[in-house]
Amino acid sequence: MSSWEQVVEAAGPHQHLVQFYEADRQALARNVGQYLADGLKRGEGLLLLATPDHSRIFFRAIKSAGANPRAALRSGRLVMQDAGQTLERILIDGRPDRERFQSVIGAAARTLKSRAGCAGLRAYGELVALLWEQGQRSAALALEELWNELLRSVGFQLFCAYPVDVFGKAFHSDAVDSVLCAHTRLVSSGADGEMDRAVDQAMDELLAPNADDVRFRIARSSVPRIPAPAPEASILWLRRNLPEVAEAVVDRARQYYNGEKRFRALIENSSDAISLIDPRGQVLYASSSTARILGYLAEELVGRNGFDLLHPDDAPRATRMLEAIVARPRRPVHAQARVRRKDGQWRWVEITCTNLLDEPDVRAVVLNYRDITARKAAEEEKRRYAEELTRANAELQAFAYAATHDLKEPLRTICAFTQLLVERAPLDQTGREHAAYIVEGAKRMSVLLDDLLSLHSLSLNGRHDRVELDQALTKALQNLDQAIKESGAEISANPLPATRGSESRLTLLFQNLISNAIKYRGEAPVRIRVAAARRGREWLVTVADNGIGIDPEYREQIFGLFKRLHNRDIPGTGIGLAICSKIVEGMGGKIWVESEPGKGSTFCFTVPFAGN
Ligand code: ADP
Repeated sequence: MSSWEQVVEAAGPHQHLVQFYEADRQALARNVGQYLADGLKRGEGLLLLATPDHSRIFFRAIKSAGANPRAALRSGRLVMQDAGQTLERILIDGRPDRERFQSVIGAAARTLKSRAGCAGLRAYGELVALLWEQGQRSAALALEELWNELLRSVGFQLFCAYPVDVFGKAFHSDAVDSVLCAHTRLVSSGADGEMDRAVDQAMDELLAPNADDVRFRIARSSVPRIPAPAPEASILWLRRNLPEVAEAVVDRARQYYNGEKRFRALIENSSDAISLIDPRGQVLYASSSTARILGYLAEELVGRNGFDLLHPDDAPRATRMLEAIVARPRRPVHAQARVRRKDGQWRWVEITCTNLLDEPDVRAVVLNYRDITARKAAEEEKRRYAEELTRANAELQAFAYAATHDLKEPLRTICAFTQLLVERAPLDQTGREHAAYIVEGAKRMSVLLDDLLSLHSLSLNGRHDRVELDQALTKALQNLDQAIKESGAEISANPLPATRGSESRLTLLFQNLISNAIKYRGEAPVRIRVAAARRGREWLVTVADNGIGIDPEYREQIFGLFKRLHNRDIPGTGIGLAICSKIVEGMGGKIWVESEPGKGSTFCFTVPFAGN
């Protein structure tokens, strides 16, 4: 049974509820929404006489309380009338007229009640509120009398609201007293519990040490004359019996209540859902944003055990986690889990849990969670795509390797038999020249295939050993011994540092750069300089030559596969720099060239610190 059904039942069959809403207008929307939604759920008819602004708000509130006002409107079970216009129709000389009241409101109530069958009728009216606002207090009370007559003859529930601030002085006035007497029950002006806390705290602070004694006297008194929530009863009693302290207590209570209201607005409007649970997982509070994620109304969750909503695979981990959280106050713990929505769908949520059990105003474990189902799906998609890509890449590489490798065999046959042809067959001069072209072409293709194979081997993960760059350079120079001698190149190097990588790859890197520096030389004797300098957490290594240089336009292209700026006058495959770039990038570094045509080139690359 919802709290509203309890209020309705406790107040008897033809009850006449009243709420003073100026201190918290949201509380009015919530109460009216819940009161009307409960009526709809029970199959009752609803008569809603409100201002257009309020009607819109109540319409939304009925929806968020879990009922369908649109369907009720279509079926005629919900009748909405503009309070201002209806009031005009029943007034004569500013006072409500009995006959008009009966023909306008009485008729509507009777029709609605008979249409809804025996399930009953609920009405909400703001006509009295409009009269009150205009200062027509006695007219408002006269109208209440007409309502009471109708209640007795037709038999339904009625809810009225007045723009009175329970913390304001007007709350303790004869007019308010008469309003109260015209009703059967005063409904709480604020959020459940919060107004009680605010008034209690103010009484504790300002009436100490007699606060409990005062509470006892309030509980036994008959102020107000109809059943009322404790805070409102306390305020009325204090104003009547302890006027000298009443205002201070009420002012303090208003401050506390406004503070709570701000805090509640923050929580209710946060995009994250917030719940409070006890150490066993029992839900003590659920913010309204919880409804968005889980599809439950807050009150459907309160009292349930949160673990019931968890995916069976996640529940054991969550139980252990809650135990750990309960053992360690105030340390936020983050987790992800699947929860079941009311409609049965599983959603992924990211939760932050904080143990505030020792915080007197909270005394709970706070769960802050958001729906990450879409993010999870995107991550899963990305992971699948990366896996597919890796598999496709591996297949492609295996194919390229097999093709490259297998092509070498027929090439060797072409070379060998062409040479046999030259040696043994009676060929004329032209024939010999053509055969020589075939051999030369086949050899070039063989070099190309070798280069492709070494590029392929770089796709496999390299080592990450400590490597002395000096040693890699020395080995590269040994491999290039013949070319160096033939070109008369003069190569100098500063002492080089150590890095982390594979020595054979770094040797190949130096070898390619130095052989290019020799190959692409200018008129002057070849001079190559290798140096290294520290750059943040890396080493910057440079290989500078005094060769023909590179047009700035091609500075990036030359690192691509098969990209060459020369024809066959200078032999090459266009793979060397692609290999260099793959080696450096495999170590997490970068490679580039600084050059101008005719002024030499400086190839620069970065490699990591070796560490200790
Ligand atoms: P290859 O030398 O086999 O042609 P690379 O990938 O090693 O292939 O080099 C790509 C192109 O970059 C070369 O064809 C050349 O035009 C240019 N290049 C490379 N190194 C130098 C250099 N030190 N000086 C001038 N041009 C160079």
